[in-house]
Parts: sequence; C-alpha cells; structure tokens
Amino acid sequence: MSRGDMAKPLLGHRSMEGDSSSTALSGRTIGVLGSGDFARSLAIRLVCSGFKVVVGSRNPKRKANLFPSAAEVTFQAEAVKKTDVIFVAVFREHYSTLCDLADVLAGKILVDVSNNTEINHHKESNAEYLASLFPACTVVKGFNVLSAWTLQSGARDGNKQVLLCSDNQEAKRTVAEIAQVMGFTPVDMGCMSSACEIENIPLRLLPAWKIPIFLSLGLFLCFFTYNLIRQVIHPYIREQKNKLYKIPIEVVNTTLPCVAYVMLSLVYLPGVVAACSQLYYGTKYRRFPDWLDQWLQHRKQIGLLSFFCAALHAVYSLCLPMRRSHRYQLIEMAVKQAMEKKMNIWVEEEVWRMEIYLSVGIIALGLLSLLAITSLPSIANSLNWREFSFIQSTLGFIALVISTLHTLTYGWSRAFDENQYKFYLPPTYTLTLLVPCTVIIAKVIFILPCIQQRLLRIRRGWEKGRYVKFVLPSATGEFSSGETSSNV
Ligand code: NAP
Repeated sequence: MSRGDMAKPLLGHRSMEGDSSSTALSGRTIGVLGSGDFARSLAIRLVCSGFKVVVGSRNPKRKANLFPSAAEVTFQAEAVKKTDVIFVAVFREHYSTLCDLADVLAGKILVDVSNNTEINHHKESNAEYLASLFPACTVVKGFNVLSAWTLQSGARDGNKQVLLCSDNQEAKRTVAEIAQVMGFTPVDMGCMSSACEIENIPLRLLPAWKIPIFLSLGLFLCFFTYNLIRQVIHPYIREQKNKLYKIPIEVVNTTLPCVAYVMLSLVYLPGVVAACSQLYYGTKYRRFPDWLDQWLQHRKQIGLLSFFCAALHAVYSLCLPMRRSHRYQLIEMAVKQAMEKKMNIWVEEEVWRMEIYLSVGIIALGLLSLLAITSLPSIANSLNWREFSFIQSTLGFIALVISTLHTLTYGWSRAFDENQYKFYLPPTYTLTLLVPCTVIIAKVIFILPCIQQRLLRIRRGWEKGRYVKFVLPSATGEFSSGETSSNV
C-alpha cells in the first residue's frame, strides 16, 4: 500500500538542530493580522509555544478581550512595526484593504494562511496575489491546511503536517522553524507555484477514495442483484413463496463478504499485472499504463473498504440468530423433527464444516484488521520498510488465502448440487472465487525459482537486451556478484 502522503521530505527534525532553533526562536515576536477565529487560535498556539504575539486589528479595543492576556492587541500598523514575521489571517477579498500598510510591511515575511471556497477559484493563488500586492515583502504559503480548531487544541489532537511553499528558501525555513516550535511537522512543497495545490487541499472531498468507493458500490450492486434473484425472486416465481423479508439482513449479509473478498483480491491483482508486465518486457523502466498506475495507488483504500465490508459481514452474521424469522424457522424444524420422531439430527460433516468455516473467517478478519491498522500513517511511520512490506504484502496474501478457505468451507459441495443452480445461475461463492484464485495461482507461479530469480533481477535493474553488471542475493541470503549478458 502506498505511503504517498509522506513522500515529500520533511524540513528538519525535532532533533538537536530543532531544539537549538527552538531556543533561538522562542521569545521572538510574531505578528498576526486579523482578529477572527483563525487569528485567535494562532495567537493562543503561538503564546503557548513561547512566542511573543502582537495582533493587528482595525478595532483593537473591541477585540482585545478575545485574545490571551499575553498577546498584545493593537492597530494594524503598530503591530506590523514590532515584528518581521506576520501571519495574514484575513480573507483574500480584504487583502487590498491592507495596501496602506505597504511601507511598514516592506522587507518582512508574510505568511498567507488563506483558503478559497472553490477549487481553482482564482487564476492565481491567494499567496501569489498577496505577493503581487506587496512586492517588497517575502510571502510564504502555509498553515491553511490546519483548521482553527486543530490550531487551538494543538498538534496532539489533529493533523500535524503544515505544508509550506515559497520562492525564498530563507523565509520558508524561518516559518518551518516556527511551525516546528508550535509542535507541527513542516513539509516542504517547493516554490510559490505550489501554492495553488496547497490551497486546493482543504477543499478536496476524499480525492483518493472516489474510485475505490465507486468500485465497491458497483460490486455491491452486482452481487446484491445476483443474490436477490437467487434468494428472493427465484422462490417467488418457482414456488410462489414470499421471501422479501430476507432482503435487509440475509441478502445484504451474503453480498458483503463477496464484496470484501473480491476487493481484497483487487488489492493484490495490480501487483500481479505489474509483475507480468515486467516479465514480458524484461525491464522495470517501462512506464505502466495510467490505469495500472492509478490502480496501484488506490490499493490502500481498496483494502480498507474490503476490511469495512468484512467487519460489517461479521456484525450482520452475529445478528442472524436475533431475527424473529430465524426463531420461527428453528421452532418449525423442531416441530417437524418431533412429528417425524427423529431423535438424532447431528451431522458430523456439517458440524466440522461450520467449525472450520467460522474459525478461518475469524482469523481472516483478524488479519484484515491488522492490515487496516498498519495502513494508518501514524502506525505505518513507526515501521521500517521491511516490517511494512511483510505485513502488507506477506500477511495480506495469507489473509487472501485464508479468506479463500473461508469461502470454500462455506460453499463446500454446493457447486456440485444441481438444486443450487437457480435459473441456471451458479451459487454466488463460485463467482467470487474467480479473481482471488487467479491472484493466488499467479503468486504461486511467481514463487517458482526460475520466475522469481528473473523478476528479482529485473527489479534490481537488469534489462532484456542489455549487457549489465548485476548483484543477486545468494541462496544463503548473502550477496554475490556476477556479470551476465542480457539474454541469460
Ligand atoms: P474571520 O473570523 O472572518 O476573520 C477575518 C478577520 O479579518 C476579521 O476578524 C478582521 O479582523 C480581519 N479583516 C481585516 N480586514 C478586513 C476587512 N476589510 N473586512 C473584514 N475583515 C477584515 O475569518 P477566519 O476564519 O479567522 O479566517 C481568516 C483567514 O484564515 C482566511 O483567509 C481563511 O481562509 C483562513 N483560514 C481559516 C481557517 C479556519 O478554520 N477558520 C482555517 C484555515 C485557514 P479585524 O476586524 O480585527 O481587522
């Protein structure tokens, strides 16, 4: 699963360097223009982090009591004179009203914290617009991805990253150090041309989730319709039996595991396709098609949705015995047996099937929970690459195999029972097995030494049709070097 959100380098660390800069910075005066929600939260956090704060307002007398007593609230021009770094906590529409301050602002660092109401609302970003109004100032874009609430409650309770960009490295470093002292993690997003991207971030609604959500909804609809036909429509048409009561729980509960299982296999299928492509072309330097790239990038979300469906399936299954229909059916069966004078209804094979089915189901859900937890950035960041790949790749594949066992023990011999073919439609579980079994078979083939070695060499830079020096791990796990011609 992708760790893309941490791909950009962090500016500095809270190590010795960070500590010394924090000592140098604490006590420094920071200015805030504006006295609204964001300005207030910013002032509180800055004061708590040891900075002196001076707030510039059009009406300081009226606003002073909204700020902590340690912060000085004064007129805009007065505030600007007292500091070199000024947070502009004012909406873009009001930037032009600050132009009277151009002379006192000259040579200072302005931090643009503003957001828009729509994605790409203006031609130029707010930060670039601010820079054009105040050419004698240095503008740094940042802090806009934090809400006033996150700022006020501190970095321990909310998003910790502060995305920064500026054309002036020195100014960007100063603001990064301030963010670090405030307990946030500055992330360098490059030069001012990134401001538009940073301003769009808070406006995006689950951008990475759209495709996986539509995919899972599509799968849900397909399987739901299929199960509805088999479990409700078929008995109605063939036997005039009304089974509509099955829709809310039973049909949904047979649909959810299908979606969870197929979605889990879709996490591993793009890796198989990518490996096949690398084997076919004999290189890792050929770009994957866009659809495969997109698919690879969405594996985390697909996996989390698979876990969500599996968890819902577990809850629905636990609720099955609570239903009134279930109680009636049990009583009906008991009465029928009493009438037929049947004493022993124990079927050994059925007992074992159910025990194994439930046991592997619980293990599969446990493994999926582990995969979901370790995909959270805070946990993923505490793992090294080998640990992360062991959990997500090896344990994930084991979860797929165990889910397959769960499905097979559920289906058992139903695929060979002609009564199970409603309107000639095979039992749903046989359909769900298609993609996961393809992935499992492909993965087993990739483990074959001849294929594994070739794949390993390709991933280390070897290319078909080229003469290269390569290094391969020997059977003992140590590295051995050798030279080979391209056709080996
Ligand atoms: P707000 O509560 O409406 O405050 C805006 C402040 O701007 C006012 O209190 C006012 O302070 C000042 N201002 C200066 N010139 C003005 C003018 N001509 N007309 C009106 N007000 C003027 O807004 P906010 O929520 O604090 O947001 C401020 C900035 O932070 C915005 O750019 C916003 O996009 C950004 N931001 C906010 C949040 C958030 O959670 N609220 C999150 C991220 C970014 P004085 O009357 O004292 O001059």
